[in-house]
Amino acid sequence: MRHKDICIVGGGLVGLSAALALSRLGYSINLIEARSLGALQDGTIPAALDARSLALSHATVKIFTALGLWESIESLAAPIKEIHVSSSGRFGVTRLLADELNLEAMGYVVEYHLLFEQLLSAVKLEKNVELLSPANVEDLDCQPQGVALNIMVEGEPQKLMADLLIVAEGASAAIRERLGVTISTTDYHQVALAANVETEAPFSGIAFERFTPEGPMAMLPLTESRYALVWTQHPERAQQLLKCSDRDFLQELQKRFGYRLGVLRAVGQRASFELKLSRAQPLVTMNAVLIGNAANTLHPVAGQGFNLAMRDIAVLYDQLKGLNLRSEQLGIHLEKYQQLRMTDQQQTVQAGHGLVKLFSNNWPLLNHARAAALTALDLMPPLKQEVSWRGMGFGQGLSTLMRGHL
Ligand SMILES: Cc1cc2nc3c(=O)[nH]c(=O)nc-3n(C[C@H](O)[C@H](O)[C@H](O)COP(=O)(O)OP(=O)(O)OC[C@H]3O[C@@H](n4cnc5c(N)ncnc54)[C@H](O)[C@@H]3O)c2cc1C
Repeated sequence: MRHKDICIVGGGLVGLSAALALSRLGYSINLIEARSLGALQDGTIPAALDARSLALSHATVKIFTALGLWESIESLAAPIKEIHVSSSGRFGVTRLLADELNLEAMGYVVEYHLLFEQLLSAVKLEKNVELLSPANVEDLDCQPQGVALNIMVEGEPQKLMADLLIVAEGASAAIRERLGVTISTTDYHQVALAANVETEAPFSGIAFERFTPEGPMAMLPLTESRYALVWTQHPERAQQLLKCSDRDFLQELQKRFGYRLGVLRAVGQRASFELKLSRAQPLVTMNAVLIGNAANTLHPVAGQGFNLAMRDIAVLYDQLKGLNLRSEQLGIHLEKYQQLRMTDQQQTVQAGHGLVKLFSNNWPLLNHARAAALTALDLMPPLKQEVSWRGMGFGQGLSTLMRGHL
């Protein structure tokens, strides 16, 4: 039986980032991922892995800086100089400008598969991390004194022990259910279409967030006159838009988005995501902790799911720093972690959910509220700064990694 300090189940963006951060504290780590990560890194499933792109907040940038990864990620990312928020067919536009906040950028946009490759390469170089992939958890026994796992690695059974279990399994419920953690779910009955779009207009660094009766639409700047589209739709309409020709898709998109970026010239591979808000309770049970989408799955409207998870990792890092994971201090620090994360998670979830509810319908009574919300934001610089500051991920104060060092 092999023993490690920490076992992380799930090698998505969040599991990989957690492994990197916690290995810097000197802990030995098993990272268990169901998919074959070797195949992904060999470039056999590159951009097809995921057509989505992610807006990274300043707090996330600081964390990657602390982990020594930001320079390489930045070379692949596009800066957001300005954010335009508008509501289709209604009065009220707000602009959030990096210049007004004396910042280089409001955030950065990077393609999911490029970020994934960066994180995976970094994890593979980490001495303290043993990556087990493709591997599945067959059985799990979580006790206050540690966790025992029976896993299957490439068809071979193995037994593992760890002092701390980190669950980063995304929307999958396998480990969560074994731990007896429940989730509350709100189905938005919406689907997000993600695709990269080539625009006539050259790179401007402007991100567009547009609220339409079907749901929010975002166009995030990418490198080389490309934009990352996230287009929320009713499920049936999404199916049509997934299947139609590129020409028809671009025509429909142009109708909805207008000519802010000139003619929309080409569209890449399209992917779809069913949208649900789900929240796990509790986040900590015995010596297990849930992070990332396993803890909170958000609507992508505010681009916060991964950023929120990075703040989880930063706070967990502080709580685990210098700790003997076999001591009873672990339970105390995990409880502290749960308490510290409550407000940020609650506020981030509610802000995104509130936006979706306020803007994703045609109720005339809400028109005034929608217009007022956008106009108020535009006219009140301090409020705008507060919103931007939260959007940048600093709403709940700084942890060590969020200061940019280990
Ligand atoms: C269209 C769209 C746009 C988005 N835009 C943004 C954005 O701009 N900014 C932002 O911050 N966030 C954004 N998000 C959210 C962000 O993508 C997610 O929050 C993030 O990718 C979640 O990562 P994760 O690692 O927690 O989960 P996942 O990516 O789901 O990874 C979970 C991993 O666990 C593995 N796994 C599951 N079960 C097991 C098991 N039993 N054993 C072993 N392995 C297992 C899976 O194979 C998977 O690799 C967006 C989301 C969508 C859908």
